[in-house]
Amino acid sequence: MEIIAETDRADVVIIGGGPAGLSAALSLGRARRRVVVVDGGRPRNAPAPHMHGVLGHDGLPPLELLEKGRREVVGYGVRIVPGTATLARVVDGGVEIDTTAGTLRARRLVVATGLADELPDNPGLREQWGRGAVVCPYCDGWEHRDDVIGVIATSPESVRQAQLLRQWSDRVVYFPNAIGEPDPEAADALVRRGIRIEHGTVAAVQIVEDEVTGVEVDGHTVPVDVIFTGPTLRPNDALLRSLGATSSDGPNGSWVDIDADGRTSVPGVWAVGNVVDLRANVSVSLGLGALIAGAVNADLVLADIAAAPAVQ
Ligand SMILES: Cc1cc2nc3c(=O)[nH]c(=O)nc-3n(C[C@H](O)[C@H](O)[C@H](O)COP(=O)(O)OP(=O)(O)OC[C@H]3O[C@@H](n4cnc5c(N)ncnc54)[C@H](O)[C@@H]3O)c2cc1C
Repeated sequence: MEIIAETDRADVVIIGGGPAGLSAALSLGRARRRVVVVDGGRPRNAPAPHMHGVLGHDGLPPLELLEKGRREVVGYGVRIVPGTATLARVVDGGVEIDTTAGTLRARRLVVATGLADELPDNPGLREQWGRGAVVCPYCDGWEHRDDVIGVIATSPESVRQAQLLRQWSDRVVYFPNAIGEPDPEAADALVRRGIRIEHGTVAAVQIVEDEVTGVEVDGHTVPVDVIFTGPTLRPNDALLRSLGATSSDGPNGSWVDIDADGRTSVPGVWAVGNVVDLRANVSVSLGLGALIAGAVNADLVLADIAAAPAVQ
């Protein structure tokens, strides 16, 4: 396989050029580190036409933020390589990463590969994902204030999603669907929050002229303006696991462990953004990218001091 950083290794290779990875690249590039970003070009929020809740960029198309970010990091000498990282190993005080564009060597590795949303398989939902079917009240709640909001349940957590959405509209309809009826306590809490429960199995999301208009349940259609649902979150952490990073099980599955600076259990390997934190929206991912970049740079400074010859 071709070696793309042939002369010597980069200081830092970042896998993933979404908000978390590019933010880390910006700080590291400005710290005069030799940085390579390898990016598959499929950020999680790509299906959404607009991005919300990001101060200074509210309403911007998400891909425009990344395009702007790429221009900024390249200005500080960061190299961006389109491609996919497939495997990584710790070698000789650093890391070697196989990518579809060749093999890279770096002193430190930052994994910022995001997560995949595994959607419920109700017909119509996938084609509306990011537009008429969404996940995050803080990202899209305002745009649907006072609308009829349908919540298609995917787990007991969906009750909380519906309760939250009542903040934006007093017309929230909860569809228990495949997970079955809420227990009496949850049902009581929904009703007390003014949320209607629509019993039965969801057959499909009704779409007219590319807009969500209803939810088909047990032979009838319940009119709604938008669907909120909770996909199963699958972190794109194969690379971290191939390196032997430890992980912990929680209510949302198994997630790779990091410390407060984003350091994984593998020496020289950091992780940031949705790949290790399901709460990392765009603003949080940007912030954490900057935070872990500082920690990586400090770690390299210490390594440089340790490697320097002693002064007599
Ligand atoms: C429909 C939708 C709408 C959303 N809207 C908003 C919003 O309005 N506001 C908000 O704050 N948040 C929003 N979010 C959340 C937002 O998408 C995430 O918070 C954010 O994308 C996390 O950034 P990240 O850098 O961790 O991951 P991502 O943005 O997903 O970036 C990861 C990058 O890594 C690349 N990658 C993955 N694996 C590899 C690999 N092996 N090799 C190379 N590259 C790889 C991907 O191609 C991608 O470019 C939304 C999410 C969804 C699903």
